[in-house]
Amino acid sequence: MKRQSNLQRLLGYAGAHKYLTYASWILSAVSALIALVPYWYIWRIIREVLAVAPDFGQAQGLVHNGWMAVLFAVAAVLVYIAGLMCSHMGAFRIATNLRLAMLEHIIRLPLGAAEAFGSGKLRKIVNESSAATETYLAHQLPDRAGAIATPCGLLALLLVFDWRLGLLSLVPVLLGFLIMMAMTGPRMQQKMKEYQDALDDMSNEAVEYVRGIPVVKTFGQTIFSFKKFKGSIDRYQKWVIAYTKELRTPMMCYTAAVNGVFVFLIAGALLFTRDGVTAQFLLNLMFYIIITPIISVTLTRIMFQSENAMIVDDALQRIDSILNLRPLPEAQRPQHPRDASVELSHVRFSYDGQKDALRDISLAIPAGQTVAFVGPSGGGKTTLANVISRFFDPQGGAVRIGGVDVRDISKEELMNTVSFVFQNSRLLKDSILENVRLGRPEATREEVLAALENAQCADILEKLPNGVDTVIGTKGVYLSGGEQQRIAIARVMLKNAPILILDEATAFADPDNETKVQSAFSRLSQGKTVIMIAHRLSTVANVDRIYVIQNGAIAESDSSRELMERDGLFRRMWENYQTSVQWKVAKEA
Ligand code: ADP
Ligand code: MG
Repeated sequence: MKRQSNLQRLLGYAGAHKYLTYASWILSAVSALIALVPYWYIWRIIREVLAVAPDFGQAQGLVHNGWMAVLFAVAAVLVYIAGLMCSHMGAFRIATNLRLAMLEHIIRLPLGAAEAFGSGKLRKIVNESSAATETYLAHQLPDRAGAIATPCGLLALLLVFDWRLGLLSLVPVLLGFLIMMAMTGPRMQQKMKEYQDALDDMSNEAVEYVRGIPVVKTFGQTIFSFKKFKGSIDRYQKWVIAYTKELRTPMMCYTAAVNGVFVFLIAGALLFTRDGVTAQFLLNLMFYIIITPIISVTLTRIMFQSENAMIVDDALQRIDSILNLRPLPEAQRPQHPRDASVELSHVRFSYDGQKDALRDISLAIPAGQTVAFVGPSGGGKTTLANVISRFFDPQGGAVRIGGVDVRDISKEELMNTVSFVFQNSRLLKDSILENVRLGRPEATREEVLAALENAQCADILEKLPNGVDTVIGTKGVYLSGGEQQRIAIARVMLKNAPILILDEATAFADPDNETKVQSAFSRLSQGKTVIMIAHRLSTVANVDRIYVIQNGAIAESDSSRELMERDGLFRRMWENYQTSVQWKVAKEA
């Protein structure tokens, strides 16, 4: 009874629009019944024609019956349209509410979890999976109501006309349903999931391939070097061919049964008329020959929908994969941090529950100080910064800001207290003004311009066609990584949070950009508690304290002068760094 519960779940999102969905089913069923009425008028026309033959001038009711048939046919269409309008209003409301439910849930997730899920995948599910329910609710269910009503109406007609021919005309319905059930059973549902997975796989690999095109071009490779991409296409192809072959026989039988209804009728008619043909029988036979195509039409309509039900099932599962992510617990009795100090005590964190990415980290950063995290790649610097800004909650220990556990600070207050500048700052496809204003939505235009000025963005605004109102991502507007980062710094400046986490960019294309970013960084840092993840040791000389992070633990920590005097990891890193810089300079010279 899975499908039933899917439907109940979807209707749960409909609110008061639920009744529109119900109304659409009733209207669709009524329309299907009305659509049978014209056939009855046609039957009357044939009867009259047969009765007066060959003196057709005697026929009186032909025109009247003809118009009545048209009238009911039109009425059936109108009622069907009314039903579709109801079903669409319900379906769109449900899709909207599904989207809202997912978005509201995503907001409550730890940023780290959303990041791990992948923003592309999140977007795809929010958009497409909710849209996938639309066809099901707006077309499939009302059509199914109609498809059930049609055989019921035909059954009723059995009583009016020749019941033997009527029963025969229902044989293909029965066969069609049996074959359809075989084609959409649990095994096929499994197949459908495999199909979706193969398709997903292929699109993921295609994205990877497109990302890798520069490499392909640079090294003169061919598509065959993308083994995974090619493999996913091959798997998809194999799957589709196998699936198609599997459906070949049932589909053939189905088409033959549904379209071959005349075979049953004519064979039956021959059998029943061994003792001679009566006018009445001929009339009924003609009636059934006219009405039976309606059976194949309705059956075919629902035939292509059962696949759709599987798509809905899959869409709901994908939606659940978002809704099942556990949100960060909200503070019960929120407290306010006293100052901008940061303190970690015995923090332990693991991504997978096996290997610890952070092991028993304790540190205290007084308000207003600037510290740097340095250390080998994979040591845990990013993870540490993420735990401080509550991307994730640690499995052990506590993070305190201004003396208050971050779990006891309300989400809004924490967001307003801690800002971060990432290595790859993302800008939205909007004007620079609005991109910066994200930092503080109520800021005036003047305040935004001042922040941009402070973040050394004057030269960027000058070269853009519409200055601060230029929309990023439009034709001809291109910003380099360093320029994007400066705009992101302006955004953070506008927000003016007392604690800053900076993930320093590893490489810049040009020295001019680098100087500007550094100068923007130092303006931004004034009077704030700053945690810098430093990738180049040249930038850490003046910080108050350096933490060397290695293997998820603090290997050393002190001022840079003290660390240099000690024979430790930092000094070795420094010496390596010097050599590499000299090497670079020598090579360039
Ligand atoms: P750093 O920033 O110092 O280079 P990270 O904090 O990125 O180090 O990584 C610390 C450890 O955690 C590494 O072993 C890394 O493989 C692991 N790690 C980082 N991010 C994830 C993630 N999203 N899922 C699982 N493991 C991760
Ligand atoms: Mg890192």
